[in-house]
Amino acid sequence: MSDETRLIHAGKTKGPLAKTVGPPIQKGSTVLLPSAEALYDDAHYTTYGRAGLSAQAALCDGLATLEGAVGVSLYPSGIAAISGAMMALLKAGDEVLIVDNVYKPVRRFADNVLKRFGVTIAYFDPATPPETLVGEASDSTRMIFMETPGSLTFEMQDVPRVAELARERGILTAIDNTWAAGLLFRPLEHGVDLSIQALTKYVGGHSDVFMGSAAARDPKLVRRLADGVNHMGWAVSGEDAYAMLRGLRTLPVRLEKQGANGLAIAAWLRDQPEVAALYHPGLAGCPDHQLWARDFTGACGLFSFALKPGSKAAVNAFLDALKVFGLGFSWGGFESLAIWCDPQLSVREARRDYGGPLIRLHVGLEHPDDLIADLRTGLDAYAKAAGG
Ligand SMILES: *Cc1c(COP(=O)(O)O)cnc(C)c1O
Repeated sequence: MSDETRLIHAGKTKGPLAKTVGPPIQKGSTVLLPSAEALYDDAHYTTYGRAGLSAQAALCDGLATLEGAVGVSLYPSGIAAISGAMMALLKAGDEVLIVDNVYKPVRRFADNVLKRFGVTIAYFDPATPPETLVGEASDSTRMIFMETPGSLTFEMQDVPRVAELARERGILTAIDNTWAAGLLFRPLEHGVDLSIQALTKYVGGHSDVFMGSAAARDPKLVRRLADGVNHMGWAVSGEDAYAMLRGLRTLPVRLEKQGANGLAIAAWLRDQPEVAALYHPGLAGCPDHQLWARDFTGACGLFSFALKPGSKAAVNAFLDALKVFGLGFSWGGFESLAIWCDPQLSVREARRDYGGPLIRLHVGLEHPDDLIADLRTGLDAYAKAAGG
């Protein structure tokens, strides 16, 4: 044969691969089928790589174990998982009720895309009692979308009760469960239909991969989610799936450590004179602590606190004085991060007074003593800027 042909056929996978602890990363759009009959036998063969190969299948398996799910769909980002699940399950004429503290890009998707396709959107105050929320839903309400705790302001909802009441009325429930990472709260066990996560955060755990997942127990929903991914044409790479699966292996130990570090720092912050209020559902005395204690088995490293009232310049002085905490959006990685939240809160319908400028911290795996020293430096800068 000629050089061209020999180069194309050289080095093909011959037989069984050596067994490693992780799955092989298969790169492939084309999948070679063993016979002419198999070409159109989708029931028994993967016939095209877009649906995912070995690493994606292994990740779905791991996530189904984490979530107690029958099936899991993967998406190229967390926001794609949310938009994808909604696109798969909603149609023109439906209404979706979305919690007002929702991650802001979800609101952008709902207001700019869902609305254009004839879906009605209503935002509800996270403090709405479940009986009122479900009782006042209209006959066209198809889905209730929750995020608990909210990832800036940390309000919680009585998720099991909302799920129970919604089910009686034939309304689907979905939750953005990124804070609990599928581990600290198991929505499907509490009757929620869809558990959605930005895997980008804690499951990835290293701030370097985007991915999202939607998990369900009802086989019909599992099927509709998978069909939705297929219809929209989404795919995730084998390398990214491999990286996610590697993160999943160490998720419990990272969360345990980051949760403990976060609680220690929150408790310390509460005693500082520059601090007005803490918003950490895992800390006794904070709003919604009782709901957290009833439903959650632990905390992650993400929470907020309010500084005593001060100028924007003083808030910037606080943030700019931090050296161990990085300034950046996102969270769930090994590193500590801080942001000022207030500019993101103006889109909300249910506005609240948090007691002063709201700062969100993501506590990573650094030693808590170093993080506390860093925050003390920041608070000194805040006091100085506020006083001067
Ligand atoms: C980051 C985040 C998302 C979106 O994840 P991406 O992968 O960045 O699209 C969704 N929900 C919450 C609560 C998040 O923090």
